[in-house]
Amino acid sequence: MTQATKASPTTPKTTMPVLFLSHGSPTLPFDDVPARDFLMRLGARLPRPTAILCVSAHWEAETPSITASPAPSTIHDFHGFPASLYELQYDAPGDPDLAARIATLLEAGGYTPFLNTERGLDHGAWNPLMLMYPQSGIPVLQLSLIRRGKPADHIALGRLLAPLREEGVLVMASGGAVHNLRAVEWGGRTPPPEWATGFDNWLRSRIEAGDFPALIDYRTQAPDARIAHPSEDHLMPLFVALGAAAADAPVIPGQSLHASFTFGSLGMASYGWGF
Ligand code: ZN
Repeated sequence: MTQATKASPTTPKTTMPVLFLSHGSPTLPFDDVPARDFLMRLGARLPRPTAILCVSAHWEAETPSITASPAPSTIHDFHGFPASLYELQYDAPGDPDLAARIATLLEAGGYTPFLNTERGLDHGAWNPLMLMYPQSGIPVLQLSLIRRGKPADHIALGRLLAPLREEGVLVMASGGAVHNLRAVEWGGRTPPPEWATGFDNWLRSRIEAGDFPALIDYRTQAPDARIAHPSEDHLMPLFVALGAAAADAPVIPGQSLHASFTFGSLGMASYGWGF
């Protein structure tokens, strides 16, 4: 005798994915490029988050710092762009209680986090979020990078954030897969140079392999690492994502979600874990 399967009385808990996004130029919302189209479709591919914690290349602090304003402002942290860009606002709420919860997680890891009630959202956060969740109402917080921190430091920081994924929080690291502003061709759509594609391909292969040791040592192991990243700030959010994705596991492979270049050499590759 067969019986109809009854629906489970409890909904399975969703573990939120982790993202590393390349945010590119602040003009991205106005640029008709594949990376913008990717971000415009990305929000619908994800479970709806209870909150978003962004780790942006554009915020470094001596001690890990967390935005704790109930209504973070939109920071226009760039110069020399069209006036229309400075009029964009992203009116996401903050979540001071969640900021305090994140601080507790970081304290358990030996950090002395700082709750910053003054700081708003920089364009590393609001630029992609404006495309992913145009009018979401989802609370958005930022966690700073550690100034002069190494890749391994940021993986350790990211591991402390892993429990948030069980609470519906989307950890969204935002930087750039290839980021050399001196090499950017602002006027045109020239093909990416070999040093840019070489580094981009290496990064993709190591992320997909979950090769944390190589990634941590990317500055010596990756081809043209110092050309692809004259400074490390735009790659450093990747390591926070790796830590949050791996949690207690030593390593975890990632998934390529998007790959393209804009303005010649600006790498727009994005990755996900836990999809
Ligand atoms: Zn940037």
